[in-house]
Amino acid sequence: MKLTSQVHVVGGGRFGFGLSGALDCHVYLLNGGDEMALIDPGLGLGRDFDTVLQNIRDDGLDPKRIRKLILTHYHCDHIGAAAEAAQRLDVEVITSKFSAPVVRSGDEKAVSLDLGRAAGFYPADYVLPPCRVDTELIEGDVVRVGDLALTAYETPGHCDGHLSFHFAGHDRTYLLGADLVFWGGKILLQTIHDCRIGDYSRSVFKVEALPFDALLPGHLQISLRGGHEHVDTAARSFRMLGVPPNLT
Ligand SMILES: [Zn+2]
Repeated sequence: MKLTSQVHVVGGGRFGFGLSGALDCHVYLLNGGDEMALIDPGLGLGRDFDTVLQNIRDDGLDPKRIRKLILTHYHCDHIGAAAEAAQRLDVEVITSKFSAPVVRSGDEKAVSLDLGRAAGFYPADYVLPPCRVDTELIEGDVVRVGDLALTAYETPGHCDGHLSFHFAGHDRTYLLGADLVFWGGKILLQTIHDCRIGDYSRSVFKVEALPFDALLPGHLQISLRGGHEHVDTAARSFRMLGVPPNLT
């Protein structure tokens, strides 16, 4: 589904547009002209990644042009399909320096898959496939996708190692915020080992300082204009020493 001239959403589940597997996060495709990048390929149950690839073709794009697979954070609904995507596409796999060893090992405790399974979020027999990582990012690193330049920001809080990306497109600027801030200024706190409220507030303040029009979250509504107001709302709660409303 084409959102703008350079951004498509090509997957997502019941907290998205029902484009692919029910548990998939929003799967974004960035079209930088001579190459494309896939952001967070989803959970990847069964043949769900086939559906993502078909959605890309249905948008008139050739998946062979995808040269980068970018993983914002290591939760399974975002990276479960990464190993399959890395195998089927000719891509450089990119994530944060912090997340890289966890993605490579498929460490279930680190990604809280044990708790997610016990809570019924994931099927009881679900296993996270380990995935190679080619490039590890730290704060300020720039990833080029054709004529797009994505600046990485370390935005922990929802979990350790979480990255957000800021970039300028043809007709607007974007914050790819993943699971940092959602529509209405909501955030996503969970009772997992690496969800940290202090880090969360600092991460929200960090992206509040960036100018952007579009907010591309990992789930629920997407803002193509006026996206900054959702970050402003979350930042206002933190600035009053409170906690923004939670997604769940
Ligand atoms: Zn998450």
